[in-house]
Amino acid sequence: MSRRLRPEALLVALQSALPDSKETIALHEPRFSGNEWAYVKECLDTGWVSSAGRFVDRFEERLADYTGASYAVAVSTGTAALHIALILAGVQPDDEVIVPSLTFVATANAVRYCGAVPHFADVEYATLGLDPHKLRRYLHEIAEVAYGYCYNKQTGRRIKAVVPMHTFGHPVDLDPLAELCGLYRLELVEDAAESLGSFYKGRHTGTFGKLAAFSFNGNKIITTGGGGAIVTNDAELARQAKHLTTTAKTPHPWAYVHDRVGFNYRLPNLNAALGCAQLEQLDAFVAGKRKLARRYETALGGIKGVGLFREPGFARSNYWLNTLLLDEPQLAARDEVLELLNAHGIMCRPAWVPMHKLPMFANSPKDDLAVTDNLERRMINIPSSVYLGAGDAKA
Ligand SMILES: *Cc1c(COP(=O)(O)O)cnc(C)c1O
Repeated sequence: MSRRLRPEALLVALQSALPDSKETIALHEPRFSGNEWAYVKECLDTGWVSSAGRFVDRFEERLADYTGASYAVAVSTGTAALHIALILAGVQPDDEVIVPSLTFVATANAVRYCGAVPHFADVEYATLGLDPHKLRRYLHEIAEVAYGYCYNKQTGRRIKAVVPMHTFGHPVDLDPLAELCGLYRLELVEDAAESLGSFYKGRHTGTFGKLAAFSFNGNKIITTGGGGAIVTNDAELARQAKHLTTTAKTPHPWAYVHDRVGFNYRLPNLNAALGCAQLEQLDAFVAGKRKLARRYETALGGIKGVGLFREPGFARSNYWLNTLLLDEPQLAARDEVLELLNAHGIMCRPAWVPMHKLPMFANSPKDDLAVTDNLERRMINIPSSVYLGAGDAKA
């Protein structure tokens, strides 16, 4: 029996799971079905549209409540959240920071913003995120702990932090990763940009390390138009995160005094208003996405040569982006599927070109990245908007 993929059969299967539509079905559309209009109107009516206002405070409180983190600091983008989280984790110029090569470019860029060097590690098939066991073997080979810090024996640089990323919303295996960070004196900073609403062994992603970053960009599970947040359980880090992202202005009734070079990374009240309304619907959004994933799985049941990536056993994932996994790692087959589905109005995209293949990171240190390279040739993201699973699409 042949396991060869027939792209036409895949197309028909996906069509059976999706609504009839004359227009292209987008990869991910935001959904504004709650209090968005009311809250944004309130900002306009009261004039509180910019860098202060009650929606910013409320959004931070609700985010902390939802994730179980002690503190959340709202910022202008997820990238800004990553940048500040790395600074507060103590990343300094010329340090190295371990990141997956399979990620969105912001993870590696944020390391460079600190003047540090991204050091790429491989991912595992079970999670699409950092492989803690492979990383352990790698660190055993290249790293040593001296004077309380971890050093790369090959480059002489300090390795300061590890930044796992929860790919398409699926949690990485955090327990062994946290243990490894303890062993090697590395700070754990989660790139949880895609994983709001995703839990690892019952605990929300983004609460396992020193700090974490979330994103509320237009394509994420909830959106503020553009925005992000830093979460932490450490009161002092939260205070510093607020200070650094609001130009490091010292509290004073009228004087402009700034005590260090800060950043203007604050989230406007207008955006936070959207965020408050979106957060109220997050549980419904996650339910819709999980329903869509089950529908896709059923539809793909009889299709040879391809499957849907499924959440790891320890996770309850938000299924932010559904992902097809071709059995064969073959760029030609992948691109054939991309051509066909896109031509038939089903928007789909390959995963990111891995970081170690991008020109600005070509000389960065790296482990063997065989799984990353394999997955790059097998992954395709398919339409995953909340409305597709919310019951108003055909069953
Ligand atoms: C979206 C995203 C970011 C960056 O978020 P922005 O809000 O777009 O700056 C960072 N990392 C990952 C993995 C992302 O998907």
